[in-house]
Amino acid sequence: MTLDCCSASRSSRADWQTILAEAIRSPAELCRRLGLDAALAAEAERAAGDFPLLVPEPFLKRIRKGDPHDPLLRQILPSADERTPAAGYLADPLDEFQSAGSSALLRKYYGRILLIATGACGVHCRFCFRRHFPYQPVTGQAEQWHSALQAIAADPSISEVILSGGDPLTLPDYKLARLVEQLNAIPQLRRIRIHSRLLVMIPQRVNDDLLAWLRTGRLSPFVVVQVNHPAEIDDEVAGAFARLVSGGVPVLNQAVLLRGVNDRADVLADLCQRLVNLRVMPYYLHQLDAVAGAAHFEVPVATGIALIAELRARLPGYAVPRYVRETKGGLSKQNLA
Ligand SMILES: *Cc1c(COP(=O)(O)O)cnc(C)c1O
Ligand code: SF4
Repeated sequence: MTLDCCSASRSSRADWQTILAEAIRSPAELCRRLGLDAALAAEAERAAGDFPLLVPEPFLKRIRKGDPHDPLLRQILPSADERTPAAGYLADPLDEFQSAGSSALLRKYYGRILLIATGACGVHCRFCFRRHFPYQPVTGQAEQWHSALQAIAADPSISEVILSGGDPLTLPDYKLARLVEQLNAIPQLRRIRIHSRLLVMIPQRVNDDLLAWLRTGRLSPFVVVQVNHPAEIDDEVAGAFARLVSGGVPVLNQAVLLRGVNDRADVLADLCQRLVNLRVMPYYLHQLDAVAGAAHFEVPVATGIALIAELRARLPGYAVPRYVRETKGGLSKQNLA
């Protein structure tokens, strides 16, 4: 065995964690790498506030060089628009800070409960509705998981646990395996759902260890990813989807409707087709949550409704996502089209 071959096999183990640790945090470096004007970097430094730039290398590679309007870049580069206050745009548009309290659980809908497994993300999406979420107090992990598991076990109406965050897949597999083992032991649970954008950011995340804890437990697994634009899907991402789907794990996509990113019928149609071609089902198209700093991403609901009509005219029914909005008090997300 040559030295090269040894180091390759060693690094492939820690791969996703190394990639995550080395994610780009400097707007100046990002702009240099993408051949963008240094003025954009200076603007990003000023605009980022307490939600700094964070983007891992595999996603950076999919951004077109020299194009300040690239739809992938727009999702991750802080812009001066974030500092413009907008009426109705709040730090906590869904009252989640209060309902989460000091627990790691968010209970909104019947039968499902959301477990905030971590506050960490593999990327900072500028439109994120949890960008102001005070994660620190709700993420003591071990102890909070313990009390969360007790609360879940005590409620016979819960059949599905959703691991969310932040991004649960930023946690190492041994921790997730232990958590899932504990969930497996709660008899009324039937399904486990993972909400993650990390595996699109870093497709190397779908490794054998992940597949093992996801597929071999008692609970039926579902993975919900977030892809907003077709250019986010390169061969590596397609490979990650294939490993999940071929392994028997249904993969669903939720996208957020974003001005300047995917607010055109041809872009959305292309996105949905690429997804179903990879056996990933378009699940939700979310209306933007009115979170402070994201108003420049808003697409009017009337436009969204027209876009969905356009998709229905062009695509098979199963390829058209449900256009929904999160509300504060409803029994489910609100259907908009
Ligand atoms: C969206 C969401 C869910 C899951 O809803 P589904 O319609 O089943 O995908 C669960 N809990 C919370 C807090 C949510 O925001
Ligand atoms: S990965 Fe998800 S939770 Fe994290 S910043 Fe992006 S949208 Fe928000």
